[in-house]
Amino acid sequence: MDAHEDSARALLNTAGLRATRGRLRVLGLLAGQDAPRSHADVAEALEGEGLDRTSVFRNLRDLAAAGLLHRFDPGDHVWRYELRTAAAGHPHIICRDCGTVRCAAGVSVAIEGADPALMARGLEVQLQGLCDDCA
Ligand SMILES: [Zn+2]
Ligand SMILES: [Zn+2]
Repeated sequence: MDAHEDSARALLNTAGLRATRGRLRVLGLLAGQDAPRSHADVAEALEGEGLDRTSVFRNLRDLAAAGLLHRFDPGDHVWRYELRTAAAGHPHIICRDCGTVRCAAGVSVAIEGADPALMARGLEVQLQGLCDDCA
């Protein structure tokens, strides 16, 4: 058990979810990332630990439903997941060449004047640019 899993346990507690091994591993993995991850990324990273793709998917879905994960589609129809605590409203930069998605940590973009119903459905800003590899 590492520090990430310790805080994962606390998060699950707060959300009233049982701290299953799968949830701990998924949260622990996402806590150490500087970019949002897809189901395929997470499944691949945890492959050697006896967590199959289906249980990783179920864990991601449940954690997002409980509000612990922020889930969004950057436009390629592939959900990305990150810790809700780390998200804290930052936008994401999508590389217009390779499609890589990164957290624009420390950047804040305010949405003002939007219909509250739109906001309630998770309206968010996405930035486009070139990643380090494509620049
Ligand atoms: Zn790129
Ligand atoms: Zn992010």
